[in-house]
Amino acid sequence: MSVQKQEFNFDLTILGGGPAGLSAGIYAARGELKTAIIDISMLGGQPTNYLEIENYPSYSMSGGYELMEKFEEHADKFNVKKFPLENIENVKIKSKEKLIETQDKIFKSKATILATGAKARKLGIPGEEEFAGRGVSYCAVCDGAFFKEKVICVIGGGNSAIEEALYLTKFAAKVYVIHRRNELRADKIVQQRAFKNPQIEFVYDSIPLEILGENTVSSIVIKNLKTNQVKEIKTNGVFPYIGFSANAELFKDKLAKDENGFIITNAKMETSIPGVYAAGDLRNTPLRQVITAAADGAIAATFAIKYIEESK
Ligand code: NAP
Repeated sequence: MSVQKQEFNFDLTILGGGPAGLSAGIYAARGELKTAIIDISMLGGQPTNYLEIENYPSYSMSGGYELMEKFEEHADKFNVKKFPLENIENVKIKSKEKLIETQDKIFKSKATILATGAKARKLGIPGEEEFAGRGVSYCAVCDGAFFKEKVICVIGGGNSAIEEALYLTKFAAKVYVIHRRNELRADKIVQQRAFKNPQIEFVYDSIPLEILGENTVSSIVIKNLKTNQVKEIKTNGVFPYIGFSANAELFKDKLAKDENGFIITNAKMETSIPGVYAAGDLRNTPLRQVITAAADGAIAATFAIKYIEESK
């Protein structure tokens, strides 16, 4: 027997309640749009997993969770309606009326902002899936404490890899950073901190080939790309931080995307469908930060307001 879904009508629906979605919500509701934010989890998005954020202007240092709580409080002030823990099953965004369907709700709106962010990319090597949650982790803040006095390998050379490697030295006795080039991508200030930390050892020009173990991870096999030498490093944990891919499965066939699967927008955050905007990490942006996501959200909401006005 099919369940009658509860129907909601809004001017604007925002999919995703991270920095982009919440900022869009604040701008839209302040612009007098009846606005809903729908998220698969609680609101706050990826930054809620970051221990510290020190480059969001006006906060020289903030916990990621605390910063996003402020975003949410701000959205509450303007009466943005929040729908957390909603698993979006279907989106119909090509027609004038946009339709978002969850298990038991249907949201109808005049415009939609997609702000569903990005998720950690996988290494795609043997052992990664097998040992997920048993030594392989994508969240140092969540799992770091399980590795007291142990050895950890972090994969990657970007800000995430190096910041998380530094964080993991609070618990682990030793942290290897395995990077495929001989130069890190992370910001210089973060690099300098890591170079000064005696618990971190850098293994350059190397890629992981396989993660080994019995019940839990016991080693990782890596290959030096310059010498082709293959070697095994004894380790209790593997933390891949090799970037992100867009959470865009639901819109995969509907919108223009770049070669990496990120949604293409113009400077107004318009996608290839009228009335559909994309903001934050899921779009083809050159910088993925809280501040850039928030700015995207503000732009998307501003042009969604205009679009709705002009379509009257
Ligand atoms: P990223 O900057 O894209 O770095 C990914 C790293 O993984 C790069 O060093 C890359 O190597 C390496 N890599 C990619 N694919 C790989 C593969 N298949 N095998 C091995 N290594 C691979 O990703 P991110 O560090 O997650 O950062 C994403 C965005 O968030 C960035 O804009 C970053 O600045 C931002 N971020 C900011 C903060 C902060 O400001 N507090 C914290 C975290 C992240 P190459 O260098 O050779 O390409």
